[in-house]
Amino acid sequence: MSDLIRKDPRKDWILRNRLHPLHEQVAAEMNGPAAEVRGPSGLIRRNPHAVGFIGPNGIKRIDRLGGSAAAAAGAKREQKEEQLPIIAIDAPQAYVAVVVDMPNGELSAHDKDVLGQARALADAAEDTAVLAVVFGPVKAALGTEANPDHPLGLAGVDRVVVFDSEAYQGFAPEQQLEAMLAVERTLEPAQWLFPDTHLSGNDRALRLAARLGERPIMHAWQIKNGKVTSRGGSELTDITRELASARILALASECAMPVDEARYEARVIASPAVPDVLTRIKDAGAVAVDPNQISLGEAEFILSAGNGIHDWDQFHEAARVLGATEGASRVAVDDGFMPRFRQVGATGTWVTARVYIAVGISGAVQHLQGIGSCEKVIAINTDAGCDMVKRADLSVIGDSQEILAALMAKVQADGAADGDEGKHDVA
Ligand SMILES: Cc1cc2nc3c(=O)[nH]c(=O)nc-3n(C[C@H](O)[C@H](O)[C@H](O)COP(=O)(O)OP(=O)(O)OC[C@H]3O[C@@H](n4cnc5c(N)ncnc54)[C@H](O)[C@@H]3O)c2cc1C
Repeated sequence: MSDLIRKDPRKDWILRNRLHPLHEQVAAEMNGPAAEVRGPSGLIRRNPHAVGFIGPNGIKRIDRLGGSAAAAAGAKREQKEEQLPIIAIDAPQAYVAVVVDMPNGELSAHDKDVLGQARALADAAEDTAVLAVVFGPVKAALGTEANPDHPLGLAGVDRVVVFDSEAYQGFAPEQQLEAMLAVERTLEPAQWLFPDTHLSGNDRALRLAARLGERPIMHAWQIKNGKVTSRGGSELTDITRELASARILALASECAMPVDEARYEARVIASPAVPDVLTRIKDAGAVAVDPNQISLGEAEFILSAGNGIHDWDQFHEAARVLGATEGASRVAVDDGFMPRFRQVGATGTWVTARVYIAVGISGAVQHLQGIGSCEKVIAINTDAGCDMVKRADLSVIGDSQEILAALMAKVQADGAADGDEGKHDVA
């Protein structure tokens, strides 16, 4: 028999289509043995020979973007999630407290990094649990018993205290500080960790430190060998301090890897009694801003246009209706449809949006480099096999014009039903 690798277009198509009933079977057939297996000790073991997948031209490819390019990887990840062991700490003797931001009731990527760091600190000590302190309602309901499949359980949380009455919602630093002091009095956390974010973690960490009369470590980006390294001197120098010298730390994103090898109980414990405080700060609500006045690098929600946009007026209208900041691929910029400062990618802006919608963008490597830190990527494209679809968390296959029209109609209908036309919470 010849050694030639022959293409089977049907199998290629099934391999690209994660929803096909034969997808897993074909993926296992074409991609060979599993790249990761859980050994008898519970540790994940990697088989370096099994990393990657055979592309349609018979050449082995490695998906370095960690997206879903190798469809089989997605299937294996799902399998891995199902098998994650549950780790329980029955009677914690100490706590590492993390005051999570949870914008819109969901953990942010930054929250997960800080919880990953808290997990490392808790695991290094005996009988120490990670305690999540949450202000405001949690989107996914928490049961009264253990919640290992809740996002908090998957992120490494053993115990949860929720302060969800109206007094804690929005920007309520005085009441929130009082709640943190109640936790401090009752549970005496060994460490307090915060995501170093404006108006949330950073502000809370400073207020708690000031009230307790302790010197915090702010802008910390690494904790290693009992030492904390943080940015100081207008972000120009690094400062290293002993971990033991500070109990309150505000951590930068990517300070640690998020937890992904086990599930934890995320058991809700009774929140301590908090005295009412006479608040002098009133949250007047968010001020409406034009999303296009927000710089691309700071935008949380981006609608980005590529060569697959054929009706530019409709694209601008869609961005307005969705309340998104506009971005573009280099082709859209080079062709004069979008200004240069809107370009996303290696030679444009590196964006960190929570939601990035790529409309008619093929996913060239230079573009993908610029969206590496985005939390959720949604692709709208006619080509189900393009690299953007492989990178995306969710893809809509079809004509951009039709999909944007349907999306706008849906948002407007939802807005009209809420009596709030034109405003839409994408998160
Ligand atoms: C040195 C260098 C630096 C670069 N830097 C950048 C950079 O910073 N940023 C950047 O973006 N690019 C950059 N590029 C260019 C990059 O290589 C690609 O050429 C570019 O990103 C492609 O843009 P695109 O995806 O919009 O266009 P195309 O590659 O033409 O893709 C268009 C996509 O639209 C889809 N489509 C077509 N019609 C429709 C429709 N009706 N509905 C829905 N989908 C449709 C197609 O299937 C296709 O996937 C750089 C290139 C070089 C050489």
